[in-house]
Amino acid sequence: MITIQNISKRFGKLQVLDNVSLTLNGGQCVALIGPNGSGKTTLIKSILGMVMPQSGALLFKGNPVGQQWEYRRDIGYMPQIGRYPENMTIGQVLDMMKDIRKVPEAALDRDLFDVFELDKMLDKRMGTLSGGTRQKVSACLAFMFKPEVLILDEPTAGLDPVSTELLKDKILAEKNNNRLIIITSHVLSDLDDLATEVIYMQEGRPLFHKPLEVLKEETGTDRLAKAIARIM
Ligand code: ATP
Repeated sequence: MITIQNISKRFGKLQVLDNVSLTLNGGQCVALIGPNGSGKTTLIKSILGMVMPQSGALLFKGNPVGQQWEYRRDIGYMPQIGRYPENMTIGQVLDMMKDIRKVPEAALDRDLFDVFELDKMLDKRMGTLSGGTRQKVSACLAFMFKPEVLILDEPTAGLDPVSTELLKDKILAEKNNNRLIIITSHVLSDLDDLATEVIYMQEGRPLFHKPLEVLKEETGTDRLAKAIARIM
C-alpha cells in the first residue's frame, strides 16, 4: 500500500533519514521502534507529506505522495502531541473536523468516542484538558473517518491502564479489518499484542524490518522487549 524508495532527509547538517526503503501493506501492524532521535517521527511525517525528503520517492497505492489533501484523507494520524485551538471545546473540534471531511454522521466510526465517554466532556475547552483526555480526543479523531492507514505516534502515552487496553482493543480490531497501522512506542509490552512487523530505526536507517514471529523465533523469546535486548 505504501512504498518508500530510498528517501533521505537532512535538517541542516543532521542526516535524520538515510536512504530508507520500505514496503508496507494492509493488514500489517508495524511497530516502528528505536532510540530517541533515530528518525521515527520524521519518517512518519514524510509518509504524511508533512516533511518533504530531499531525495527518494514515496508511493501510496503506486501514486507519488506529495502534500495532497486527497491522500491525507486516507490516513488517520494520532500525533505525539496533539495541537488544537485551546479555546475550542471538544465538541467544536469534532464538529470542525466533520465539516472539513464532509463525512455523513452515519458513516463515522464512533467506537472510541463511546468507549472514552467523550459525550460527557463535549463542552470542555481543549486548553483545560488533562494530557490523557487530549490523547483520547486525538485517538477518536484518528479513527473517526475510517482511514485505510492509521499512523499512531506514541498512542498510549499519558493514557491510564484501562484506557490503554481499550485503545489497544480498537487497534487490534482495525488491524483485522485489513487496515495498515503504523505505531511508534517506547512501551514495547504494548506492541507485543499488536505488532505483526517490527522496524527498528537506528541513526536514520531501518536496522531491520521483520515479521514479529520471525524476530521471536530468531531470538528464542516471545516478548518483544527481550527479543530486542538479545539483538542489541
Ligand atoms: P523520539 O523517540 O524522541 O520521539 P524520533 O526517533 O521520533 O525520536 P525524530 O523526532 O524523527 O526522532 O528526530 C530525529 C532527529 O531530527 C532529532 O535529532 C531531532 O532533533 C531532529 N529534528 C526533527 N525535526 C526537526 C526539525 N524540524 N528541525 C531540525 N531538527 C529536527
